[in-house]
Amino acid sequence: RAKGDGRGAYRFFETAMDVWAQERRALEMDLREALARDELKLFFQPLIGRRDNETTGFEALLRWQHPTRGLVPPSDFIECAEQWGLIGRIGEWVLNEACRTAATWPSHLTVAVNLSPNQFASGDLVDQVRAALKASGLAPARLELEITEGLLLHDSAKTLEQLAALKALGVKIAMDDFGTGYSSLAYLWRFPFDKIKIDRSFVAEMQDNVAIADILRTIALLGQTLNLEVTAEGVETQAQARLLAEMRCDQFQGFLFGRPMPVGDIPSFLMAATARRMRGETGVDDDG
Ligand code: C2E
Ligand code: MG
Ligand code: MG
Ligand code: MG
Repeated sequence: RAKGDGRGAYRFFETAMDVWAQERRALEMDLREALARDELKLFFQPLIGRRDNETTGFEALLRWQHPTRGLVPPSDFIECAEQWGLIGRIGEWVLNEACRTAATWPSHLTVAVNLSPNQFASGDLVDQVRAALKASGLAPARLELEITEGLLLHDSAKTLEQLAALKALGVKIAMDDFGTGYSSLAYLWRFPFDKIKIDRSFVAEMQDNVAIADILRTIALLGQTLNLEVTAEGVETQAQARLLAEMRCDQFQGFLFGRPMPVGDIPSFLMAATARRMRGETGVDDDG
């Protein structure tokens, strides 16, 4: 039909745009209702310490259990939630749900929560965190807040103030996706982070690219020098874990150790890990 006909191609494009706009509108309407309909869920992915291969805690990762779309990953809706002004309420729900859940775990386990820059813009983040800790009874030191350097790009006094107030509550602050931004290193001295999480793109390329391996080794060393914990994200193979352990990364996260899981799977995950340890299977650490 429209072959070789510019108007036809244009009409096709127009229709596609219409469909896309309608699709987005539908998504927005649904997302506005998602909280009230109890469709948001937290999954939890384990973080593993290098020294003893023990689970040190879990990162809370948001999922949307949509009635027809199925389980929607955050990459498909977080940005929309930010644009539509919904991330404030969603983020508050995540904080409360994560703290409430972690308060039921053995007390050595931590929980990490991802924060959107928009949550800092709203101005009531510190109060929200304080309230979530109080309502759940979770010790502040067991809560870790993950931010990305996008938050620090504008370097506003208000942001730094809030970060300082959060640290004063006793929670930990981690820089997520470290190395993916334009000037990751420049941000490290601006704020006393507790942890950096090396982006999984570095881990994925570490074995094919000597320069990347060198950069990783250097970041691990930097962490030791600045007294920051260093976590490697996206660890999928034993070989990667072994290399990262040699580099003295402090902690691992990735499919090799555990995928993000619903909260109900956590007890059996922890029991299986304990059983492995009791059988003397020590995993990746090779230096005792
Ligand atoms: P992130 O904070 O860097 O989380 C790690 C992501 O990497 C998760 O994707 C996790 O499932 C994935 N991952 C972990 N291990 C592996 C691995 O071995 N291989 C591969 N290929 N992937 C791995 P997920 O759950 O889809 O989350 C994506 C991003 O969405 C997160 O990246 C975070 O930036 C954002 N996000 C998730 N939950 C929240 C939330 O509650 N609030 C906000 N603001 N953002 C969130
Ligand atoms: Mg994260
Ligand atoms: Mg990350
Ligand atoms: Mg990432």
